[in-house]
Amino acid sequence: MPSPRYHREIPARYRLEAGKCSGCGKVLYPERKVCPACRGQEMETVNLSPTGTVVTSTVIHVPPDEFLNEAPYAMAVVETPEGARFMTQVVDCDPSTVLPGMELDLEFRLIRKEGNSGILCYGHKGVPG
Ligand SMILES: [Zn+2]
Repeated sequence: MPSPRYHREIPARYRLEAGKCSGCGKVLYPERKVCPACRGQEMETVNLSPTGTVVTSTVIHVPPDEFLNEAPYAMAVVETPEGARFMTQVVDCDPSTVLPGMELDLEFRLIRKEGNSGILCYGHKGVPG
């Protein structure tokens, strides 16, 4: 079963809503209650641009079961123009070509079906721009 947390986060995920720390200006995605950089608890909600630059990447050859038929695929840490960093799957390209500095568009897509229940999980994936 998908976790309740996942469902609660869907609207924020769809809009790429992030939290910007009022204390130090760090942008966090997904938004968190406490800033890991300065421990500040005041967050302003900001919408991220649906683009990012690859910071680091790795090719997954042995994925978790639900992604088995997608391997190999690339996972990348991307940074948006606002400075938020998060991990995303990169699709529609040869995974070996996903390298730091590559520009990606973040598209909202189906990520996986949850088991036999057929519940669909959506999220952003990186697509070479
Ligand atoms: Zn902070």
